[in-house]
Amino acid sequence: MDPADAVRARGIAPGGVPRTLCPLCGDPNLQPLLTLRAGPLLECPTCGVRCTAEHGEASAIHAYYSAVLAHEGKADVAGRDDGVFEAIARTQADAMEELCGPRRHGDLLEIGCSRGHLLAELQERGWTVTGVDVSDASVEEARSRSRGDVLLGEPGHVGLEPSSFDRVAMFDVLAHLPQPRQTLSDVATLIRPGGELVLSTVNEDWPLVPLFLRAFRAFPSRTAGLRDEMYEGQHYCYFGRKNVGRLLESAGLELVDVRPLEPISVRLFLHQYGLAKRVAMIGMRRIDRVLGSSRKMLVLARKPR
Ligand SMILES: [Zn+2]
Repeated sequence: MDPADAVRARGIAPGGVPRTLCPLCGDPNLQPLLTLRAGPLLECPTCGVRCTAEHGEASAIHAYYSAVLAHEGKADVAGRDDGVFEAIARTQADAMEELCGPRRHGDLLEIGCSRGHLLAELQERGWTVTGVDVSDASVEEARSRSRGDVLLGEPGHVGLEPSSFDRVAMFDVLAHLPQPRQTLSDVATLIRPGGELVLSTVNEDWPLVPLFLRAFRAFPSRTAGLRDEMYEGQHYCYFGRKNVGRLLESAGLELVDVRPLEPISVRLFLHQYGLAKRVAMIGMRRIDRVLGSSRKMLVLARKPR
């Protein structure tokens, strides 16, 4: 098998570096919560952050994402269909405007820009865009798709000037970071005073999570597929609406708003699933509407003036 295919088939981001301290508060007493494909999922008793017991070195993570596309292998965004990724980008740009207001000008940086579909969409809407990603294949494609600068590497190490962006967007990136506090501090440095960070990520404080955890523990083999979907192999860290503010404050940002975000899989890909899963997903969305919750959240933070 081609080495890149082997990485894809595994669907698990690199490990090898043991997690001994909570990635948010530094508590050393991380407790095992659940067994995932990649090993134990740990929970911090102090701040509630959940994280994998291992993460990868930066160089291994770069090699991994250069061999796979982020989220490749997930049923909802399988393949390289540009129409699908353009639809996702429009959904993300709309969600951002709903959260931040209709502004469509200024300097915008996207962290984890992947193949550049959102960069192109935001450029179309009037923003001057810059992208950063750790996958060399994605960076190359993003450069040709958008007319903005697209840089290979991590936000703190690609030579960007401090205080040079009005807004930073990080869609579905936070959970993939081995050191989220450090990366968010680097990101905060790049934002102009009064500028904004918009991020989306998994909301581990989703009210249905405790029910799923109970089911995963009681029926591990029967629920393995659902467990792998909820705790996907590319993720290292899980925050929730209760502790994401603490993370942002540790980076010098002020939390402005946290909203439930309807998962893209429900909004765009429902028709791809079998009947049982479709019914389950519609049922969960009904519950979410009643509770005002979602498995995903959209977060707005601001850099103080
Ligand atoms: Zn903690």
